[in-house]
Amino acid sequence: MKKVVVAGGGVLGSQIAMQAAYHGYDVTLYDINEEALTQAEARVQALDAPYKEDLQATSDQLAAAHDRMQFTADLRRAVDGAYLVIEAIPEVVSIKTEFYESIGAYAPEETIFATNSSTLLPSQFAEATGRPDRFLALHFANSIWKNNTAEVMGHEGTDEAVFDEVVAFARSIGMIALPLHKEQPGYILNSLLVPFLDAAEMLYVNDVADPETIDKTWMIGTGAPLGPFAILDIVGLETAYNIVRMKAEATKEPKFEKLATVLKEQFIDQGKLGRATGEGFYTYPNPRFLDPDFLKK
Ligand code: NAD
Repeated sequence: MKKVVVAGGGVLGSQIAMQAAYHGYDVTLYDINEEALTQAEARVQALDAPYKEDLQATSDQLAAAHDRMQFTADLRRAVDGAYLVIEAIPEVVSIKTEFYESIGAYAPEETIFATNSSTLLPSQFAEATGRPDRFLALHFANSIWKNNTAEVMGHEGTDEAVFDEVVAFARSIGMIALPLHKEQPGYILNSLLVPFLDAAEMLYVNDVADPETIDKTWMIGTGAPLGPFAILDIVGLETAYNIVRMKAEATKEPKFEKLATVLKEQFIDQGKLGRATGEGFYTYPNPRFLDPDFLKK
């Protein structure tokens, strides 16, 4: 079976490793030291419960997946004989660049490298890999076993055959492969989602309407199951706040400053971080938008 290496066993790396092993690949998970590996192993083990619940995975299937996985902090050993390396290390340009320079030197010539970066573009690292034609982005969403999007995005120098190979790989591990024809910051999903959430937040902070009315409008008008504020509760208000604060700093526009202040004072400072803490724009587990009559009046 082809050997897949996942670099970085954090939130996403542990999920990618499990998903590939579950679908029959021999997986080596590489992380920086023994402590990080111990944490990665615990994250991978913790995925058994959602795989059982969401995918009806059997104990035998899960045991077989775990048997196909190895953990190492030795990069040279990790990439030996690798067909594909999927990088899921921190979203820091210098860390990723240094990583690509190292594996570029160690990995076999034919090994394909894919980055799971959410905000950085593959062209930023193509040269550092030493094999720009065999490098591209393969971007998963959190909870990949059920939110199974795989956005595949090359840079100008990515070989078309490599691109097609990675699309086929993504499908082989149960993903819906979503090919992009060119580089796009935010890929498809966040290129749509971020402006949509921004627009909703502006309606709210400019006192045009309250969150429930805005969500109701979207849900009734389009038939969507969730409105933007229900989505913001899932994303988490800290993430929403960080994005707005960066925009406020970059643009100095008062509307972003105002929104950042509202999110901080009325939500973050009060521990209302969204669904994860039981309260954000809605309270959980029974948010108002799930009331049978929410859309009726
Ligand atoms: P994380 O912080 O949970 O995990 C990062 C892991 O990388 C840790 O285990 C850490 O020990 C390890 N690491 C640090 N330096 C390393 C190095 N030099 N070599 C190998 N491993 C190293 O991060 P995450 O949330 O899993 O994100 C990883 C990547 O995936 C980022 O590029 C991020 O943009 C992307 N991503 C994250 C999400 C998400 O929802 N968290 C979704 C899609 C994509």
